[in-house]
Amino acid sequence: MQTSARNVDLAELAKFTALAQSWWDPQGPSKPLHELNPLRLQYIERAVASATAGLQGKQVLDVGCGGGILSEAMARNGAQVLGIDLSQAVLDVAELHALDVKVSLEYRAVAAEELAQQRPGAFALVTCMEMLEHVPEPAAMVKALAALVQPGGDVIVSTLNRNPLAFAVAIVGAEYITRVLPRGTHEYLKFIRPSELARWGREAGLELRDLTGIAYNPLTRSFRLSPNTDVNYLAHFKRSAKEPV
Ligand code: SAH
Repeated sequence: MQTSARNVDLAELAKFTALAQSWWDPQGPSKPLHELNPLRLQYIERAVASATAGLQGKQVLDVGCGGGILSEAMARNGAQVLGIDLSQAVLDVAELHALDVKVSLEYRAVAAEELAQQRPGAFALVTCMEMLEHVPEPAAMVKALAALVQPGGDVIVSTLNRNPLAFAVAIVGAEYITRVLPRGTHEYLKFIRPSELARWGREAGLELRDLTGIAYNPLTRSFRLSPNTDVNYLAHFKRSAKEPV
């Protein structure tokens, strides 16, 4: 696969490829993704709720879908999901898992930028979770997400904030103290401040509707949605219904 001209860091992809086989182990290195998933699903359902029924019947694209933890959950809730990623190994795991649990959805190894050229504005909802902090040019990725969503559609992103607390929690805590994540999973300088994400969205024609934090309670060992966006957070954008003339 020709990836050199794409907005992808091959060393980053290799890290995820190495995790492919244990992706669906809820106690493995993807544990945080499993634990976060009900919250992100709840957030997404709330963001797209309208007169019509949430995810039901919606065309959804999950960019950087990995082994499909979120893609599958959205498909179970009735969405027509396409998951894309550039690691074939994680996509193979995603496909096998969907067959195993009999959830119907589609996976493809295609770059978001390339799909945006093939199917511009094709999706009612585009999600991109825990991926932007792993790509060389996140602003260009946000532009591709904006091109993929239909006018008036939703883009929902999650990532890690960049500040000393995020460093302490996401890197020192998760990779060195509790070791829930393998060392080297995250690079601090690639973390993204909400203001940066909002600006990239604006520049791509996406209006920021909401920012919500994901807080971890070490006593109950559980996550919850929170107004505090200091570490991990979700952002909901809408693409303008009218195109600029
Ligand atoms: N979104 C999933 C997986 C997050 S892990 C979830 O939250 O459950 C990050 C994923 O992004 C990995 O599967 C990795 O292979 C993928 N990835 C990294 N860079 C990418 C790129 N440029 N294009 C597509 N996928 C990418």
